[in-house]
This record gives sequence, C-alpha cells and structure tokens, in this order.
Amino acid sequence: MENDFSYISDNLRVIRSRIAEAQDKYRESGDDVRIMAVTKTVAPEAVNHAVSLGIGLLGENRVQEYLSKAEMYDSSAEVHFIGHLQTNKVKYIIEPMTMIQSVDSIRLAEEIGRLAVKNGKVMDILCEVNIGGEDSKSGVSPEEIRDLICAASEVEGIRIRGLMTIPPPGNTDIFLGRMQELYNKLRSENINGIKMDTLSMGMSSDYAEAVKYGSTIVRIGTALFGARDYSR
Ligand SMILES: *Cc1c(COP(=O)(O)O)cnc(C)c1O
Repeated sequence: MENDFSYISDNLRVIRSRIAEAQDKYRESGDDVRIMAVTKTVAPEAVNHAVSLGIGLLGENRVQEYLSKAEMYDSSAEVHFIGHLQTNKVKYIIEPMTMIQSVDSIRLAEEIGRLAVKNGKVMDILCEVNIGGEDSKSGVSPEEIRDLICAASEVEGIRIRGLMTIPPPGNTDIFLGRMQELYNKLRSENINGIKMDTLSMGMSSDYAEAVKYGSTIVRIGTALFGARDYSR
C-alpha cells in the first residue's frame, strides 16, 4: 500500500499560512522566510514528500543518521547541518551539505575551513548562540559571539552568513528579541566586510514568533512530520 502522507501537506498548509500572517504583520514585503524540514527520526519517504511539496531545504542533526538516509533523499533539496558537530565528523558532510549552522568554536570553524579548501569549496556557516545561557545547550554566549565571528572571519574556506539559536523553552519572545538585536548589531558593524544575511531561529513551538523577530530560516520538525518516534 502507498504511504498516506496527506498529513504532511495539511501540516504544511498551516505552517505556511501562519508564517505568511506573521510576515504580513511584521515584515517588509520581499523579506523572505525559508522553511527547513528537520528530518531527525523521519523516514526518507516522508522527507521526500515534503520536498515534493516545495520544501527545498532539509536540516540534519546527526551525521550518522544523515549518512544512512542521504542516498534515499530527493537530491533536489539543499541540506544544512544543525546539530552538535564533532570535528572528526566534518569530513562526512563537507561535500554534500551547503551550510553548517551549528558552529560554536574556532576549532570547529578551522576544521571546516581546512576540509572545505581541500574540497575546493567555500562552506557557508552560521555561529550558534546560546541565547538563554543554558548549560544543556551548545553555542557561545552573546558576550563571546563577536570574538568568535572576528576569529572565524580570518579562516579560509568558510563564509560567515549569520547566527543560529535554540532559545530556552517558554517565554521565547524575550530571547527571540535579544537574538534579533544581537544579529542586527553585528550586521551593522560590518566586521571584516562580512555580509550577514541569515538568522536561523524558530522551531515547531515558536516559528510564528521567530518570524516576528526577523528569522530568515525556521527549522521545523514536529509541526510538519508529527511527533518523533525514537524507537524506529
Ligand atoms: C529537532 C530540531 C529542530 C526542530 O524541532 P521541532 O520542535 O520538532 O520543530 C530545530 N532545530 C534543531 C537544532 C533541532 O535539533
């Protein structure tokens, strides 16, 4: 029997309309928001269905899981890495991915740059900010982000495009607002001529709010594919 993925198109319709509503209300026209489908634990067939509905961007958290599924993915979609990344795993994602959103140390930035140069490419990166100062989350503090960006701007083989964050649960408005401020401030500084154009924030529970605060990529898993089944 064919899989019935109609729930994905139903979910996507809701997501698109909530984003459009927030854009109408808070954003200038032409100021785009991309929807990323976050694929962890999701079957490749379901992921490909989302791609067939016009989602052109996939987000991967785990290198191992990505490698086990990549062959089955519709290759028309662009893939970004969004999870915690160990330096010894960078080699597996340099070629197939177009952006690494979760850079949180100069050591990682240097390893990405080194392998990108070796592969004859320039890798787009975002620096991850731990905006809530939570011990459980990766990312650098808002106080340290400028230093990381300055240091990373010297690294060959990478191009800094902006910031990514996962705000603490609940009360996210405050943190989304702080991220917008931080992003705008760094952008206006024009550090070493870096042109930042990407603010990746907003997940299933807060994507509409994130659009209000200037997000350019919302990363959506559960609201698109349903609750994750880790037993698969
Ligand atoms: C899982 C995950 C998401 C999506 O989370 P949902 O709440 O299911 O939408 C977004 N970003 C990152 C970094 C994630 O790990």
